[in-house]
Amino acid sequence: MSEKIAFIGLGNMGLPMAANLRNAGHDVIGFDLAPNAKILAETAGLKFAVSAVRAVAGASIVITMLPMGKHVLSVWNEIVAELPAGTLIIDCSTIDVESARKAHELGARHDLLTLDAPVSGGTMGAQGATLTFMAGGAEAAFLRAQPILLQMGKRAVHCGIAGAGQAAKICNNMILGISMAGVAEAFVLGEKLGLSHQALFDVASTSSGQCWALTTNCPVPGPVPNSPANRDYKPGFATALMLKDLKLSQEAALSAGAASPMGAQAAALYALFEKQGHGGDDFSAIINFFRGIPH
Ligand code: NAD
Repeated sequence: MSEKIAFIGLGNMGLPMAANLRNAGHDVIGFDLAPNAKILAETAGLKFAVSAVRAVAGASIVITMLPMGKHVLSVWNEIVAELPAGTLIIDCSTIDVESARKAHELGARHDLLTLDAPVSGGTMGAQGATLTFMAGGAEAAFLRAQPILLQMGKRAVHCGIAGAGQAAKICNNMILGISMAGVAEAFVLGEKLGLSHQALFDVASTSSGQCWALTTNCPVPGPVPNSPANRDYKPGFATALMLKDLKLSQEAALSAGAASPMGAQAAALYALFEKQGHGGDDFSAIINFFRGIPH
């Protein structure tokens, strides 16, 4: 079924996601504050509105893909009163759990169907429509959103009530940040002990050290030909984005009263690495930090 979809936030992720919805046959109208957004949207075959409010006029589904919680709340505050009851509004940004819950509350005041549905898969996943969505919200909102999410991704998991999608996202990425730091540290220790990268990989990838950070995103060149280490850590999952997610995990841990000593350590490491000018490098480049290699 073709829907009228308003897509707000046409950045690195939002633009290809919106283009995939258009390619799936929907009537998509976008909006973004960036000065070059109109030209980029039109080049991708999307209609472009002059404001968020104009974009959502007549839309049956609204999607936001914005940097942080404050941007999401600001846009949702602007548009919720414009939407008829029952309209589905999905936020796909990665934001703090508290803001996500506030966004759901805003929507509920206007009888909207609301979902937090952050993604994993990065810009390649956004372009190739292979993202994984982690959704929080009422069952009815998830069921209404599912077919649309599956036109931008390959998997959509209903994680629970409002905010559960964000919770799943930051817990997953905290595992990732910690495990990458561990894998990188082990390779540096192996180097000092005279162990070849391949030998450590062959053992750990088939033993209890096995994990995604090792077998898919291996921080040394060679053992996994497609990992960012083979192309000087670019492109990939940027250190700055990993740091953002780790900070969100630490905010959540503080407000929920959870002990998070490993997440805190990982956040501190990536913050130092970013300060050295590596915010744009794939996060596996943290291995150079452990080697003490100056940038
Ligand atoms: P981006 O900075 O490329 O895009 C965000 C866009 O939002 C920008 O174009 C900006 O102009 C626009 N924007 C900001 N405030 C706005 C407003 N009030 N109204 C309209 N537009 C506004 O970021 P991105 O890489 O597309 O990421 C978007 C979200 O997805 C973030 O929350 C990020 O953490 C998350 N995410 C990104 C990746 C990735 O690999 N890039 C992966 C997973 C999740």
